[in-house]
Amino acid sequence: MTHPFLDLAPLGADRFAAIEDRVARLLSTGQDVVIMQGEALLPLEGAIRATAGPGTTALNVITGPYGQTFGDWLRDCGATVIDLAVPFHTAVTAEQIREAFAAHPEIDFVSLVHAEAATGNTNPVAEIGEVVRAHGALFYLDAVASIGAEPVLPDAWGVDLCVIGAQKAMGGPAGVSAVSVSERAWARMAANPRAPRRSYLSLLDWKERWIDGGRKALLHAPAQLEMLALEACVERIEAAGLETVMARHASAAAATRAGALALGGGLEPYVHEARDAAPVATTLRVPAGVVASELVARALAADPALPLAAGGGALAKEMIRVNHYGADATPGAVRASLTALGVALSAQGLSVDVESALRAAESAK
Ligand SMILES: *Cc1c(COP(=O)(O)O)cnc(C)c1O
Repeated sequence: MTHPFLDLAPLGADRFAAIEDRVARLLSTGQDVVIMQGEALLPLEGAIRATAGPGTTALNVITGPYGQTFGDWLRDCGATVIDLAVPFHTAVTAEQIREAFAAHPEIDFVSLVHAEAATGNTNPVAEIGEVVRAHGALFYLDAVASIGAEPVLPDAWGVDLCVIGAQKAMGGPAGVSAVSVSERAWARMAANPRAPRRSYLSLLDWKERWIDGGRKALLHAPAQLEMLALEACVERIEAAGLETVMARHASAAAATRAGALALGGGLEPYVHEARDAAPVATTLRVPAGVVASELVARALAADPALPLAAGGGALAKEMIRVNHYGADATPGAVRASLTALGVALSAQGLSVDVESALRAAESAK
């Protein structure tokens, strides 16, 4: 008996290149797209180590937990790092980026997270991109949590390194990921003596041995199952239409936000302004006296399939995450989440109105 996961024909260079081309179409990019054989942290780290060095002055925007990690990698590469941290309940503005350039004209690298699944905010990349382009810095973007949930347009926005993963709004596998690379970014890597080579982290290996060779021979055996899953998930998005998939996420976010406000019990959207709230996931602040992780545990005990989680680390006390992405970007998942949160809050003696929450979710735009 053949096994569906085990007895597979080898995944050849042609198929691999075709999957890269489909991912490039998803990003509307003419840049090179490299599919890296690991979770998105691989290209996120590889792109920084390839382009940053002792001569780099990096503006590192921190709007959630990943920004901290990028700053650590940049410092580890010897870069001078200027951290621009904004509270997790808001988004960074293009004006703040402009002010940072004015204060530090030597900035030649900008790292930014587009949407933050962990904190529920999203940043105005199109506007920021204009400012970064005018200044001439290399622009690095983590779009793992935005791809599939909202537009991600590296060419239109002047993004030099745009990293995506399929495990959030694309509803795909976590084990492979992709990065689009501009000509400028390749040139920066080629000029960087410390850029990883002959390394799993190396983007230059893929450039020199895969792309420049006409994509005829792979560097090593690909993660076959993950590549097939990525292909299937892109196929599914193409069939539904990317616009439709993004609209499902936007609707789920709007419904969750409106529903939580109408639910009462002291629950509030964590991100203050709706325009700063990410379509990929909605974060909520629990009322004083309630511990978010305990509330989520109670809701999940009733239904473990709900897309609910408490915030990570120190946020576990105060933040609930409604991860309405991928297969959970549906009105049903939102209704079930709101209902379960209502039941859990009322079990703690708080007064909630589930009916009105569901009505508000239904009529939200
Ligand atoms: C999810 C996510 C990643 C990938 O990290 P995992 O936690 O391993 O899935 C990277 N960046 C952002 C902004 C993310 O939301």
